[in-house]
Amino acid sequence: MPDFKVHSEAGVLAGYAAGALSLYFLNKSVYFSGLVFVSSYAGSIFPDIDSDNSRTINIIFNLLSVLGGFAAIYLLIDSPIKYAFLIPPCVYFFIKFAVSKIFKYYSRHRGIYHSIPMAVFISLLIFQITYFKLGEISGFVIGISFLYGYLVHLILDEINSLYNLKNSLGTALSIKGLDIYTTIIVYSGIFILTYINFEKLSNGFKYLINLFNV
Ligand SMILES: [Zn+2]
Repeated sequence: MPDFKVHSEAGVLAGYAAGALSLYFLNKSVYFSGLVFVSSYAGSIFPDIDSDNSRTINIIFNLLSVLGGFAAIYLLIDSPIKYAFLIPPCVYFFIKFAVSKIFKYYSRHRGIYHSIPMAVFISLLIFQITYFKLGEISGFVIGISFLYGYLVHLILDEINSLYNLKNSLGTALSIKGLDIYTTIIVYSGIFILTYINFEKLSNGFKYLINLFNV
């Protein structure tokens, strides 16, 4: 598997391309293109969250906790919630310490993060969170950007396996997880999130298709 540095550099390039495309094709701000960049980059480093290299996991969780803290600031910026300013640091510490501990504990279930259903499921979750702040079209673009970064990671792993003729070939782009329970949870999550957001997601797809038809 390529190391964190390779995925991070590929993520910067992929994120830059996505940000530039969004600036050119979408009638949105430079600021929004920055969000597209961050989302694509996060997608491209995310799958190694289940890496067996603890250094890689620590780097990813440090980055994710910073991103999570900033995302909380962004989502809560005009919030009427009292003491909303306390939430971003809590999100930061929660991801850095609690979530990372849980992931490390369950790292035996390695593999599910290197699969397309998990990529789709987490991208739908990103859409669900960003939709509340950005609306259906922008939320959709941010979700798609994350999915795109995630797929760049999986394809890079596949190319690496092909090059080194590893027996993990074909696993990164697999459409099923390792154990039946995880697979059921991920597929159910995809079904529920698609079902409740069906109209919003269709509008997002139509918006992107129309853009490229012009
Ligand atoms: Zn990987």
